[in-house]
Amino acid sequence: MNEKETMEKLVALSKRRGFIFQGSEIYGGLAGTWDYGPYGVALKNNVKNLWWKKFVDTRFDMFGVDAAILMNEKVWEASGHTGAGFTDPLIECANCKKRFREDHLAGAKCCPECGGVLGEARDFNLMFQTQVGSQGDTKSYLRPETAQGMFVNFKNILDTLHPQLPFGLAQIGKAFRNEIAPRDFIFRTREFEQMEIEYFVREEDWESAFTGWKAAMEEWMEEIGLPKEALHELEVPEEDRAHYSKRTIDFEFDFPFGRKELYGLAYRTDFDLKNHMEHSGVDLRYSDPATGEKFIPHVIEPTFGLDRTVLAVLVSAYTEDELDGEQRTVLKLAPSIAPVRVAVFPLLKNKPELVEKAKSVYSQLKAVFGNVSFDDNGNIGKRYRRQDEIGTPQCVTVDFETLEDNAVTVRDRDTGTQERVALVELQAYITNTAK
Ligand code: ATP
Repeated sequence: MNEKETMEKLVALSKRRGFIFQGSEIYGGLAGTWDYGPYGVALKNNVKNLWWKKFVDTRFDMFGVDAAILMNEKVWEASGHTGAGFTDPLIECANCKKRFREDHLAGAKCCPECGGVLGEARDFNLMFQTQVGSQGDTKSYLRPETAQGMFVNFKNILDTLHPQLPFGLAQIGKAFRNEIAPRDFIFRTREFEQMEIEYFVREEDWESAFTGWKAAMEEWMEEIGLPKEALHELEVPEEDRAHYSKRTIDFEFDFPFGRKELYGLAYRTDFDLKNHMEHSGVDLRYSDPATGEKFIPHVIEPTFGLDRTVLAVLVSAYTEDELDGEQRTVLKLAPSIAPVRVAVFPLLKNKPELVEKAKSVYSQLKAVFGNVSFDDNGNIGKRYRRQDEIGTPQCVTVDFETLEDNAVTVRDRDTGTQERVALVELQAYITNTAK
């Protein structure tokens, strides 16, 4: 299967099975937007919940925030986003008028679409501007990153929770960029979600914090099932780093369309807090509780694109194989993020005693696992194929024997093997055999 075919199949499966649809599809779409359907949103929520659990709930040094998307325009002046710092070089073809990012053209002098002459590059700011209020007199922007929502709340967190360094803030939310050329399905879109962390340290501790977060990010990528061989860490050279960053690592992933940035990890020095302190006139220094010394903390920023995570997870999970002499498509998703954790079937739809028993098994499992599905449509083989395509790790079938022996058949997605499991042990079996 070549790369183009892989992407086409993934996009087709995403649509066919209710993961991801084109945004505003019935009106012909809107470039750079995608809508998540029932299984897509379930997968995305599982990723978010797992991330929050790992990086906020199970740590003693992390705090969550959920800041507004619309912010005072001064935020973006202080962060440098309104200036030259947040632009991409835009080039237009004189002939077909198509627009490209100069840095994506690899030095080409002619239009890759029509061979026409390319114009001069100009800086194009990626922020969506909007007006706030009935008079439309207050300028604002749809935030292009979640990070600033955390910096502007730094003082609120200090004043309310009194955390001691090192500590961090975490946020999951939408970000918007008017990308010159949105492309590659949900890889580069104009509206997307980020999961970001700003971790505040004393300047002298930045290197150990950086190393710690690098390891935590590597662990995370393993936990969501991304294969090690598809991941690469790029030490970003000084000339390519943001001017305030003293070290940046790009975590790259082998997508079907090339090796591209999945996540980033940056040491941002004290750049953000310092600028917000200057622009707002509010003291954003941290006060050492032991010595009373006041200083601006330095920041390590691990950033995770959520939609790129979903895409990397889908690419890694997508498999075509043969099972029992039949070709099938299967998503080998990690059970912790699969949209449906387990599916329950009565062997036959028209036998009330089977349906009733299956419904009771379904209710019990649903109370424990939440994302459990009930399916009595079509023959068992068809139901397996359907669950395989959405990546359900295990299927439980209630048959006539169940009524006698209180045991069910549990079928494993990846191997197709079936095991007879007593109902009293079912919950533990599901928990322990697919993690
Ligand atoms: P790129 O170079 O691909 O444009 P970037 O370096 O500008 O990305 P950052 O500003 O570091 O990206 O954003 C943090 C994360 O947000 C990225 O690692 C990526 O996962 C995600 N992201 C950024 N832009 C987009 C986009 N247009 N669509 C989807 N995800 C995005």
